[in-house]
Formats: sequence, C-alpha cells, structure tokens
Amino acid sequence: MDVNTLYKELGKAFYQSEKSRSIPDLMPAVNKIAAFNTKFCTSCGEKIDADAKFCMKCGNKVEV
Ligand SMILES: [Zn+2]
Repeated sequence: MDVNTLYKELGKAFYQSEKSRSIPDLMPAVNKIAAFNTKFCTSCGEKIDADAKFCMKCGNKVEV
C-alpha cells in the first residue's frame, strides 16, 4: 500500500462523513462524486443514490 492509496481511502471516508454537512468549499467535489454515483431505477427510471438498496419511488430492489 502506498501513500496515494491511503489518501484515496482518507478522501472516501471524509466524503462519506462530511457530504451531508454541505461544506461550501467541498460542494464542487461532492456534487461531482454524487453525479458519478447516481444510478437509475431499472423499473421506473427514478434517480437513486448509489448506496440505496431500494427505489424510493416504486420500491424496486436496486442492483449493486
Ligand atoms: Zn423505481
């Protein structure tokens, strides 16, 4: 494991703990990650968070 891998792990952990706090300086990066992580329901087409297990709209199980 090199230092860049450690930075990536730190960044991911930081993102997961801080994304809900909407820190202005971090929002551009947070929004890019959120867009990258967005999935769509295969049943109804609704946007779904990457970490969601079920579609909020129709209840369809989300594939990982
Ligand atoms: Zn759905």
